[in-house]
Amino acid sequence: MNLDIVLHKCIEIGDLSRGEILFLLNLDNDADLQRLLDAGDAVRRAYCGDAVQIRALVEFSNVCARHCNYCGLRALNSSVTRYRMPPDEIVELAAELSEKGLKTIVLQSGEDPHYTGEMVADIVTRIKTTTGMAITLCLGERPDDDYRLWREAGADRYLLRHETASRELYAKLHPDSDFDNRMRCLRVLRELGYQVGAGCMVGAPGQTVEHMADDIEFFRDFQPDMAGIGPYIPHPDTPFAGCPPGSVAMTLKMVALARIVTRDALLPATTAIGSIEEQGREMALNAGADVVMPNYTPLKYRVHYEIYPNKRCITEDPAHCDSCMRLRILSCGRTVSADQGHSRKSRQSQI
Ligand code: SAH
Repeated sequence: MNLDIVLHKCIEIGDLSRGEILFLLNLDNDADLQRLLDAGDAVRRAYCGDAVQIRALVEFSNVCARHCNYCGLRALNSSVTRYRMPPDEIVELAAELSEKGLKTIVLQSGEDPHYTGEMVADIVTRIKTTTGMAITLCLGERPDDDYRLWREAGADRYLLRHETASRELYAKLHPDSDFDNRMRCLRVLRELGYQVGAGCMVGAPGQTVEHMADDIEFFRDFQPDMAGIGPYIPHPDTPFAGCPPGSVAMTLKMVALARIVTRDALLPATTAIGSIEEQGREMALNAGADVVMPNYTPLKYRVHYEIYPNKRCITEDPAHCDSCMRLRILSCGRTVSADQGHSRKSRQSQI
């Protein structure tokens, strides 16, 4: 395959074949890699412009019923101090963030049945009516009725990383979860009118380049509104403790390819890439990403939301986060978005 021709197709058309995706994932010299990342950046500029969206992440509970083999919050990890933010505290924090000028709040948690469908709906309604912020939920797999209730309460978006588009690898990573249900949830969320975020880990134990091609094909075919892509980072209290982390280079390739095949999806420069490489988020912003998600979880809880160790900004004062994030965006020659940054995919019914 000829790199010039494939990169031309990346920029002009984007609809890559599996063979082309594999060819690009297998590029192994720095100059060729840089050309792929530049193609991701060029597509981002053409379809998304220079503004970077800032989403305020609030991790409101680290209690989790699942046993995902990579995640430090897995139910069996007894060394985690578990916490749950009371609903009032979540709503008050949202009001503070809105006053600071943040326009999207992302409420994330483990799969925690303590927060019933009604409780979450109430939190969403209160945040929506008092602040008007765009609300993104990231609470894992829940009954369809809960998803419906939350959408009706005013939630705009739902993040549910597909984790891996390979059924076989999915089963190895998730001993107690069902690949078909994860995919079904993504379709249900879309049908309910959410802007839907998928996403995957890069370099997860057992993951091959073929599996990564599955993820890019999934992005190409499903066309998610958003896609979070970050390196796998080993956590010492999990069955995958000794496994090596995903690499920065492979993560950047995946970000660039996701940009190329989705064209205008919202793609975060993830905390995980910023955690394995100081300049990781800037590198992702220069390879196709257009979103950052600074962590606004109150400090007393934040240290306990340890999905992986040495998370970036774990002890950072939120006031500092704000200016740090803006400087990082400006350092890449980009601007900070002034709007809510809704999906650019036209099928969405946007609030
Ligand atoms: N319970 C929610 C939120 C999970 S945490 C849900 O199921 O969607 C958010 C993301 O962190 C996960 O989707 C996973 O991709 C990522 N993650 C978890 N453990 C990780 C690890 N050890 N390294 C890198 N990413 C991890």
